[in-house]
Amino acid sequence: MPKQNKLLHFAASAARTLHLWPLIVRSGLFNSARRRKYPDTIVHLDVVLTECCTLRCKSCSNLMQYYHHPENLDADEVISSLRKVFAAMRVSQLKLLGGEPFVCQKALIKVLEYLKDQTDRFDEVDIITNGTLIPSEECINAMKDTPKLKVVFSNYGELSSKLKEFSELCGKEGIAFDIVGDDSWWDFGGMKLREEKESKTQHRFDGCYSRRLCTSLYRGKLYVCPRQAHAIRLGLVPEESSEMVDVMSLEFDDPAKLHDAIYALIDRKKRISSCKYCGCDDWIKVPRAVQAERPLDVT
Ligand code: SF4
Repeated sequence: MPKQNKLLHFAASAARTLHLWPLIVRSGLFNSARRRKYPDTIVHLDVVLTECCTLRCKSCSNLMQYYHHPENLDADEVISSLRKVFAAMRVSQLKLLGGEPFVCQKALIKVLEYLKDQTDRFDEVDIITNGTLIPSEECINAMKDTPKLKVVFSNYGELSSKLKEFSELCGKEGIAFDIVGDDSWWDFGGMKLREEKESKTQHRFDGCYSRRLCTSLYRGKLYVCPRQAHAIRLGLVPEESSEMVDVMSLEFDDPAKLHDAIYALIDRKKRISSCKYCGCDDWIKVPRAVQAERPLDVT
């Protein structure tokens, strides 16, 4: 990872740990100047492998709790969309996630096999897991063979029942790992339409850390944030073509065109439709990973 990106990454982690996000995002410290400094790099890219999860957290900001029929994504389609993104942009931190990515280990292995030959296109690849599963030997080997890879455990206490065993396995096999986890989460609220002034919605978007840290590649399309991606998939907000990039569209076979479209998306100034259904700026803290008995309905 370039030195400057490392510093930013470290500062962002420290800010999260110290609960400084509300102050920092409002101060505009992490603003679009960073993107302008690295116009050929997506600083953070979430690559979704599955909607399936072993947990059902009521306050999952990515909306997994609303999937009644979650699916694993097709690995070849994920790779095709990544191939097009890499032709247009580098990625600093590439995150493989779900849901829980270790529920679809065959797809994960295939994606890792692709990534291991693309190491000039990214600075690091993190697999984000809730520590509830132990990967197969084949999957462990694929992780070992992928340079710049790290397993990032979200520690949900007793719910992360395999975290200890899995992290010890990583240590034994020489796979880098990190364990992260706060006692509480910021609650983005339910998917209800907020009757509010346009300026309030725009202010939410302006200060949103998710749009800065979680550009999402999902089902061949690039979204501003995961909440937008999944809200559209779940039919909770309309799909607006001007608010995402259809990476697989033929017009983006030209990498220069795709580059410009991606840059415009990540440097976007106008709020997106899903911001009207989001409470990320309410700064409400809730206990982490409280489980729902069944998938939630959107009322
Ligand atoms: S919906 Fe808007 S405000 Fe909410 S996380 Fe996404 S970009 Fe941020």
